[in-house]
Amino acid sequence: MKLVRGRLFDFKNQANPFNLSENARYFEDGVLVIEDGKIFAAGDYSQLIKTLPANLTVEDYSGCFILPGFVDAHVHSVQTKAIASDGGELLDWLQNHIFANERQFENADYAYEHTRFFFHQLLKNGTTTAAIFPSIHPVSTEAVFEIASKLKMCIIAGKTMMDRNAPEYLLESPQKAYDNSKALIEKWHHKGRLHYAVTPRFAVTSSPEAFKMASALLKEFDKLYLQTHISENETEVIMVKGIFPVNHNYLNVYDSFGLLTDRTLLGHGIYLSDEELERIAEVGSAIVHCPSSNLFLGSGLFDFQKVINYQISLAVGSDVGAGTSFSMLSNLSEAYKIAALRKRKLYPFQAIYFATLGGARALSLENEIGNFDAGKAADFVVLDPSKIDLLAYRIQDAETIEETLFALIILGNDRLVKATYVMGEAVYKAGEI
Ligand SMILES: [Zn+2]
Repeated sequence: MKLVRGRLFDFKNQANPFNLSENARYFEDGVLVIEDGKIFAAGDYSQLIKTLPANLTVEDYSGCFILPGFVDAHVHSVQTKAIASDGGELLDWLQNHIFANERQFENADYAYEHTRFFFHQLLKNGTTTAAIFPSIHPVSTEAVFEIASKLKMCIIAGKTMMDRNAPEYLLESPQKAYDNSKALIEKWHHKGRLHYAVTPRFAVTSSPEAFKMASALLKEFDKLYLQTHISENETEVIMVKGIFPVNHNYLNVYDSFGLLTDRTLLGHGIYLSDEELERIAEVGSAIVHCPSSNLFLGSGLFDFQKVINYQISLAVGSDVGAGTSFSMLSNLSEAYKIAALRKRKLYPFQAIYFATLGGARALSLENEIGNFDAGKAADFVVLDPSKIDLLAYRIQDAETIEETLFALIILGNDRLVKATYVMGEAVYKAGEI
């Protein structure tokens, strides 16, 4: 057993986006009690310490905030080097910058080297769980699972499937995509904290045959995820209408092949109609908002309020390389501004919720991660506000935790992250992985 002391903040299990004030938990002088990589207890230091054996190791982060590890629900492990590539809107950007970049991951040495760097970026930003898109190459997914498994991280990933509308070198037949995916599922799905996601990139790059294969995999294995993109860009939406004329909307393309379950993660969803949102709510799939990516590619302004009004689970994704930061704080800051442009209000508690417990819920992982309830994995991030002097100055006289967290979101980034813990162990500390 060991203790980690600091300013604890999380949400109770019964929290939802509409009742967060009553379900926020904050202990100015708090402590996490960790046993065998899991939370044994969490609460006020002076109260809890009385109930515990003496002489326990204390890792003291007094003055720092301790939050559940961030959930990045949509990120591409094969696009780190493509971040900050100047290239227009989605479809041009993919052609001009992304596909050639992803091709390099056919080489195992390259894949491992660059995937290690990618994981370093996740951890130095306090992200402990991610839903990851590698390339079509099985080795790019092997690298993700192997590194995540060494770090004991809870990760969702699956090799991308594409069989049309991309360069020849990134295409494979539906049968080959099925075979390669199946081999990876058999090797990695439910091994430790790893989960497999069947990953057709988006409707543009998959034929009906490929979607049938994706559907076959979902039926064949237990509790597989499905992750993809949807309604990110107006030109994309028009293109999907053209290549799937029998489907009456974008969502129906996925729906008609049986790809919508309560473990389906739909990236973006900016242009979904009311009818599509209703259907997503009905099947229990989740939407992943990718704010910095949507701004960078000029994709559009997502309406988070409308989505949660439909009771749809919402998570947030960095979507690097279209996203401009691995920091979930930076992405939440962009989400706040997008909401403002839509005349909506993203409250600080909501923002933190979507990147922690809400994100865990959207990923059906709320029994394992997302807050400091006893029995959950001790995955958390330590944020030191003194590392950004403007932030420290701003929050000196803050009157509420809500005001402080808002400043943390708007001004924060990876510089705040003093340590990141996975299963109770510091996997990132003071600049080192
Ligand atoms: Zn993406």
